[in-house]
Amino acid sequence: MYQSLEQSAISTTPSGEQPSLILIVDDDPLMRLQLRLYLQKEKYRVAEASDGLTGLAAYEEVHPDLILLDAVMPTMDGFACCQKLSEVPESDRPPILMITSLEDKESVDRAFAAGAADYITKPIHWAVLGQRVRRLIQQFHLQQQQTILYKQLEAANRQLKYLASIDGLTQIANRRQFDQQLEEEWRRMTRQQAPLSLILCDIDFFKHYNDTYGHQAGDVCLQQVAAALNRSINRAGDLVARYGGEEFVVILSDTELEGAVHIVKQMQAVIQALAIVHKSSPHHCITLSFGITSVIPTLESLPETLITAADAALYQAKDQGRNTFCTKINTFNEFYP
Ligand code: GH3
Ligand code: MG
Ligand code: MG
Repeated sequence: MYQSLEQSAISTTPSGEQPSLILIVDDDPLMRLQLRLYLQKEKYRVAEASDGLTGLAAYEEVHPDLILLDAVMPTMDGFACCQKLSEVPESDRPPILMITSLEDKESVDRAFAAGAADYITKPIHWAVLGQRVRRLIQQFHLQQQQTILYKQLEAANRQLKYLASIDGLTQIANRRQFDQQLEEEWRRMTRQQAPLSLILCDIDFFKHYNDTYGHQAGDVCLQQVAAALNRSINRAGDLVARYGGEEFVVILSDTELEGAVHIVKQMQAVIQALAIVHKSSPHHCITLSFGITSVIPTLESLPETLITAADAALYQAKDQGRNTFCTKINTFNEFYP
């Protein structure tokens, strides 16, 4: 038998908040009546069930702040019911106060083993019951508040981590994330003895673009270029980041120079498709110069050598008239004596 809340009429607290709800699970109707009257006098709301099974159903429906659970009942006893409730995630699980027979040590041990938070003995000492109920409900509410705070903190940390890794203007990875990922991929490729490629690219004549169309138009152009470059990669371990100003960097893991050149050609095509007019450029629209390099990392070498090589290749591309790419095979002797 499960008695609904409406049957045990309840008042609310002066603050307007609902009083705590206690679920009484006991097969003895007289015991239930006594418990209910006492708890209602103490301004709690009460729901009732007459055995473990209906107790579980009542728990699902009303989500009490505390369960008063008789140890010995037909159909499903208090220990089995307690055991079943211990499957509920800890943060949602209300405390269980077991009601056992006096001097029954074995029942007490079994109650704690099944997951009860505390116990009281029959015949009930009402002042003791009152104290235990108050303390257990307080603890439960505190635990719930902590869970909420912890979840909020986790969400804030995730947001913070995201913000710390993203470039505000272009919404792609920032220099910090690039540095981190380069270190990671360098180590991973060292272990796998697989090639790691790097592309450094820079918008051509961008100062003129700003001078001609204004800084705001320059910002929009940077956003468009960043998004276009980002669209050109799709493998896990690859990354496009804003390296600084109008310069971008691309990490391509497990990719040989040939593969990196292929990606650059794709990038040139998407940038061309953007067709951002730039009348003070000899190419008449926004173009980029690219420096490409590739290496199989070793324990003796450093990731900075890859950046140095890509930078040298980019410089060469600029030198050759821009809107082009150059490659540099990374030899450690040349760049890192
Ligand atoms: P080059 O072809 O040799 O790369 O010439 P450039 O004019 O692109 O290179 P330079 O280094 O002389 O100028 C880079 C310009 O990029 C100057 C700077 O104002 C602009 N720039 C850097 N960051 C931003 C930004 O966040 N927004 C805007 N609008 N412009 C930026
Ligand atoms: Mg430039
Ligand atoms: Mg530059």
